[in-house]
Amino acid sequence: MKDSHGRTIDYLRISLTDRCNFRCIYCMPEGGVSQLRHEDILRIEEIEELVRIAAGIGIKSIRLTGGEPLVRKGVVDLVDAITKIPGIENVSMTTNGVLLPRMVDDLKAAGLSRVNISLDTLDADQFRMVTRCGNLDDALAGIEAALAAGLNPVKINAVVVRSLSQDFLEYAKLSVDRPLHVRFIEYMPVGESSGADGCGWGKDDVIPSEELHALINERARAQGLPELVDAGSGRPLGWGPARYFQFPGAQGTVGFISPLSRHFCGECNRLRLTADGKIRPCLFSDTEYDVRTALREGGEDAVRAVLFEALGAKPDDHHDKVGTERGMSQIGG
Ligand code: SAM
Ligand code: SF4
Repeated sequence: MKDSHGRTIDYLRISLTDRCNFRCIYCMPEGGVSQLRHEDILRIEEIEELVRIAAGIGIKSIRLTGGEPLVRKGVVDLVDAITKIPGIENVSMTTNGVLLPRMVDDLKAAGLSRVNISLDTLDADQFRMVTRCGNLDDALAGIEAALAAGLNPVKINAVVVRSLSQDFLEYAKLSVDRPLHVRFIEYMPVGESSGADGCGWGKDDVIPSEELHALINERARAQGLPELVDAGSGRPLGWGPARYFQFPGAQGTVGFISPLSRHFCGECNRLRLTADGKIRPCLFSDTEYDVRTALREGGEDAVRAVLFEALGAKPDDHHDKVGTERGMSQIGG
């Protein structure tokens, strides 16, 4: 399936819920977002049906996200159902990880292939501050559970924020002794939570990936350690928009995702589905296409028509417009 700019679109990110067991300060207001009504959220069977139709027109990879996908009732059954759909080659998930210890074996058995776990810092106090209610040990237990279950690759994502002063070298070193793929993501000042009611961070808090890469190398040199080298063929499956490096001899890699400093729009391969059944052609555009009504009232042809309409509306680039009306917890990141 090609869009009007010639890009192959074969990846669908599905937000299963706008609810979450954390309240990360860059993602959600403290009191949570005004929650969607139960009847407005796509039912598990509706998501399944949508994936079946999307697979028929060329979608091959699915990522489940949220809010927190693991708080959505029926998530294991959904993974089980969509991994069996002809044409779907892999189903992955982005999660804060805290529910993984009790769910990962079932998810693996259902066919989940890989997982991205969001973890911004290794400092327990900072972790609680960022998540507002999270416990670092619970998140670390999620990473251990994912490795023990044999999910591969296990990627851990840190949103990089200048005012947080995270210890980037310590974090990058998580990739040395374990097959962990650390990724640093530029903070995106989007949605309500970046404003006065949220974390209050803005564009000055973005650390461009090149600057961060140089900083990690500088700190490594200061500790007498080798610098990062290109990961080459060592980069993990599903490498997407990240650029990967590696400490020589390390089991894992260090990736940089730069939505702001290095637009990867030319390589964009995705559509997004919100929990309330809207297709978003671009993370940074508020134009959405209502596939819920098509699913509930139209049938297969109507759903396909909405998917093609959204595909045709994919912009060539976000042109530095990174604000959105909805927060990340509603779009799925
Ligand atoms: N709850 C899950 C989690 O945290 O992994 C999935 C949903 S979360 C919205 C998906 C990703 O978006 C996470 O990696 C999170 O760190 C990232 N994210 C949320 N707000 C962000 C922001 N303002 N800038 C950059 N990344 C953000
Ligand atoms: Fe929840 Fe993920 Fe948003 Fe944090 S980033 S509040 S874990 S949805």
